[in-house]
Amino acid sequence: MIETKAYAAQDEKTPLAPWTFERRDVGPHDVQFDILFCGVCHSDLHQIKNDWFPGIFPMVPGHEIVGRVIKVGDHVKNFKVGDLAGTGCLVDSCRECENCKQDLEQYCLKGNSQTYNGYEQDGKTPTYGGYSNTIVVNEDFVLHIKENLDLAAVAPLLCAGITTYSPLRHWKVGKGHKLAVLGLGGLGHMAVKFGVAFGADVTVLSTSSKKEEDAKRLGAHHFVVTTDEAQVNAAKNTFDFILDTVSAEHDFNMYLSLLRTNGVHICVGVPPKPAEIAAFSLLGGRKSVAGSGIGGIAETQEMLDFCAENNIVSDIEKIDIKDIQTAYDRMEKGDVRYRFVIDMATL
Ligand SMILES: [Zn+2]
Ligand SMILES: [Zn+2]
Repeated sequence: MIETKAYAAQDEKTPLAPWTFERRDVGPHDVQFDILFCGVCHSDLHQIKNDWFPGIFPMVPGHEIVGRVIKVGDHVKNFKVGDLAGTGCLVDSCRECENCKQDLEQYCLKGNSQTYNGYEQDGKTPTYGGYSNTIVVNEDFVLHIKENLDLAAVAPLLCAGITTYSPLRHWKVGKGHKLAVLGLGGLGHMAVKFGVAFGADVTVLSTSSKKEEDAKRLGAHHFVVTTDEAQVNAAKNTFDFILDTVSAEHDFNMYLSLLRTNGVHICVGVPPKPAEIAAFSLLGGRKSVAGSGIGGIAETQEMLDFCAENNIVSDIEKIDIKDIQTAYDRMEKGDVRYRFVIDMATL
């Protein structure tokens, strides 16, 4: 077994603290890589606090993981020692169901293995995430990372990046489309970058004008303050797509009124309470509400390659791991532009 250093939550109330545990030895199809950077996703905090479901403790969060390969199993074909490597939200899936067979492991019908707060496919070995010094993952769930980008800023692509890339690709958002990005946080700022890169006309929808300058710097073409009635009225019936990254309660009916006929409101954020949607908001204009969750392994690789070619990374603030609690406090207040990334050399 491999002795592993980490930061863990022992239960839902205790702050993260140093912890050591054992990872499995490198099997024939496994890649072991030392973790250099790990992004801090808002879902780390939700899961530590049991916001969505009772967690598996001790919990080592982190699913935006990048590092360098130090060991590969005998049958590993696609990685060698010294390569850069990454792992996102998934470390395994059944590989047999209709979704897995179509490269949609994120929707594995038998339940995929989440990178942390989950179990391996044996259903009993807990998984531990990237707030740790090293990780062992089956090579089919390890991503290649090119050397040309700032590695710390690549880390958030593994969750925030693919979560926004996948729906934009699925709905073929691009030239000739008007895309609205609702919420400018970790997910939203990546949605703006991808939307612009795909050729869409991009508008950021935000409750205040505070982030207008930033939105334009990120490439957005327009900005609508959703608490300003005149601006909202001017935006009615204009968007082909709204990519909704907001995890707090909000009025879907108002946003649906901003869609054109046949428009699609795509949810990638997870508000705590179910939304109330009036049928009239949908049938007047044949509108849809849809959702999308992370992405499959092949698409995640496609996204990383696209980012390497087009020089796209996340905007980040690098932190020491001892400051993780402060980072969580700031993240809860929306005070981060736009992703904290832990420098794992500080572990
Ligand atoms: Zn995440
Ligand atoms: Zn499956």
